[in-house]
Amino acid sequence: MPKIALLPGDGIGKEVVREAVKILLAVGKRYNLDFVFEEGLIGGSAYDATSSPLPPKTIDLCLGADAVLLGAVGGPKWDDLPGNLRPEAGLLGIRKALGLYANLRPARVFPGLTGASPLKEKVVSGIDILVIRELTGGIYFGEPRGREKLVSGGTKAYDTMVYTTEEVRRIAELAFEIAAKRCGRVTSVDKANVLESSRLWREVVRQVHQRYPDVVLTEMYVDNCAMQLVRDPGQFDVILTTNLFGDILSDEAAMLTGSLGMLPSASLGGSVGLYEPVHGSAPDIAGENKANPLATILSAAMLLRYSLGLHQEAQAIEDAVEAALLAGYRTLDIAAGSCQVVSTSQMGDLVAGFIRQGSQPGKAGAL
Ligand code: NAD
Repeated sequence: MPKIALLPGDGIGKEVVREAVKILLAVGKRYNLDFVFEEGLIGGSAYDATSSPLPPKTIDLCLGADAVLLGAVGGPKWDDLPGNLRPEAGLLGIRKALGLYANLRPARVFPGLTGASPLKEKVVSGIDILVIRELTGGIYFGEPRGREKLVSGGTKAYDTMVYTTEEVRRIAELAFEIAAKRCGRVTSVDKANVLESSRLWREVVRQVHQRYPDVVLTEMYVDNCAMQLVRDPGQFDVILTTNLFGDILSDEAAMLTGSLGMLPSASLGGSVGLYEPVHGSAPDIAGENKANPLATILSAAMLLRYSLGLHQEAQAIEDAVEAALLAGYRTLDIAAGSCQVVSTSQMGDLVAGFIRQGSQPGKAGAL
């Protein structure tokens, strides 16, 4: 029985994880699978209960599970805590504890949602991009970092961008492996005209590429990539990049799809994968049953595919999401025109209903 650790976290995290569990139960029923769910604390709610954003019990729970499904962490209540106690420290900590060095963020425009994108329909129609972001190296973890008072007055603050050959090698391998099963194109994004760490990144990516002759490698500076993503996103298949650049570019790619609420992610590398929506805890709508649960539901689909090898079941979730959208149901964040606006829990019920019906995309009827 696959054991799934649930870390709902803060704000809308709790609401969207609840809907993803509803979907996994529907999948379990249809395919005769028994999932075991066990819940743990992370982020601000963990800090409130235990004075730590990542209690050791949560780490143990995740290490003992087959996969982890996380909601989101953070909120204004915890904004003034010191860095090591902030909710985000829980998130960085669990990624580190699980050895997750690769973050996969698909940005795909679902049929019927091209109108939700801030870009012209003809620019975004059919895009299917996978941003692969290095997750445990680079400037977010580099040492030294800190602050110093200057004798001349004022303060100096600094961070360090560091990459090792090994860190670049393993993420590049993963990117080429995945690209080989998609459209066979990797765009490696760096700032090699300025940064020493980017020059090493380029060298290693080129070396790894020699073992994947069937995959086309393109190199691009991050500023150009930011521009190309809005100019011609259809040119991208897999974007491979560093922690900092990936953080920014994946949010930009997210907006091509029209809503943060539609974007799932997977973090891989260690023995246990972690799956979470790209969005945060959305304190402005938390507790109102308005959040879009589809990013978390699609994260659950990635969990089935990447951690449990349940490809048919993952596809069933993605088909049901597509069916719900094609039938005209929308949460507020993606609502437009003559759609039917539904709440978080209603969207969960609808997707679960389509899973039970075994809907094929395009064949969705009204419920
Ligand atoms: P956010 O993603 O929480 O929200 C940005 C905007 O998008 C808000 O207007 C929000 O209402 C909307 N939004 C986000 N997810 C949505 C959904 N599923 N359905 C409908 N609308 C949605 O980003 P933020 O406001 O910058 O950050 C809020 C808190 O979340 C902060 O404490 C931040 O640190 C944290 N955060 C956490 C994560 C994470 O847990 N992975 C990621 C980003 C931000």
